[in-house]
Amino acid sequence: MIEERYFSPNKLYDKILNLNKFVNVSIIGKSVQKKPIYLLKLGSGSRNILFWSQMHGNETTTTKALFDYISWLMQKSNKDYLRSFSFYIIPQLNPDGAKLYTRNNYSDIDLNRDALELSQPESLCLVNLYKKINPEFCFNLHGQKTTYSVGMSNKSAVVSYLAPSISDDNQINEARRRSILLIISLFKKLNIDIKGHISRYKDDFNENCMGDYFTINNTPTILIEAGHFPNDYKREITKKYILKSLIYSTILLYDEDYLNNSIDDYFKIPENNEKFVDLILSGVTIIDNGKIYKDQILALNYNESLKKGKIHFNPYFVSFGKKLNYFGHRYINLNNEKTNSFNFRLGFPLKKDEITDLLSIK
Ligand SMILES: [Zn+2]
Repeated sequence: MIEERYFSPNKLYDKILNLNKFVNVSIIGKSVQKKPIYLLKLGSGSRNILFWSQMHGNETTTTKALFDYISWLMQKSNKDYLRSFSFYIIPQLNPDGAKLYTRNNYSDIDLNRDALELSQPESLCLVNLYKKINPEFCFNLHGQKTTYSVGMSNKSAVVSYLAPSISDDNQINEARRRSILLIISLFKKLNIDIKGHISRYKDDFNENCMGDYFTINNTPTILIEAGHFPNDYKREITKKYILKSLIYSTILLYDEDYLNNSIDDYFKIPENNEKFVDLILSGVTIIDNGKIYKDQILALNYNESLKKGKIHFNPYFVSFGKKLNYFGHRYINLNNEKTNSFNFRLGFPLKKDEITDLLSIK
């Protein structure tokens, strides 16, 4: 079944009701709007692993993948992992943002810039749990834009990993070393499944980010970003590779042979670049302030907005010209179409009558 991109607190509640009795469910705090923040706990081992998702409310793919991961952990053949580890999972750290489909929380604060100040109840909730369970490893789960490419290649970044920095000069403490070594193995494994589509997230140091803050405190923490596979706007394909990342991580942490990797290999993983736009149209007539430009190439991206429980993708102008320096997730030639003329307003959404069936997402 294809899941909607929107993943609300109600949806989360339904999913929690369907969990079996081996998953311990508790409420570890409340959001600004007093919505419960749930913790799911599985396993009885001494090695604590902490996961959190939807710290940015509109980044839902990793939350869905976590429920598939829980089903995987429940399989009989995986009981050794539940004996060795205790898995602490916060599926939706920002329920208010999840409801409104916004990145920030209800106070319009980015929770991933609140690690030092801890000004928000949601951030406090995460850090209090972190202090209480002293995890051996953390997974900070996010979703990224469609515009990211793997380096300068024409492959979109479907999954990106990061071992967060601990300083401006790229120092490596023991925690970051472990994160780096794990990512090298994840990259090697996933790059067989989906070759060329895996990248390293940009690693600007910012100690207000939870991952950087936990790594400074010597807890290995990796960031996993769910990205875009062409035409997969519901991110069902991406979800599969996030699930694989979580499964591989579990096996790798259990077997520990990832510790034999060599740090240099991490820096060989291509970094994210922004070479993509959602749509490239050719054969377009642009009308800009009375001037007419014929046979142009037009780059568009989609804006995501929530309407009646569904996410809508509305195209807006990025750029136009005779030649563009972008790859498109989709190419459309408008030479033989009725609508091929656009009034140019850089950065603005298209007018309603300009959004033809052609441009909409199926
Ligand atoms: Zn995020």
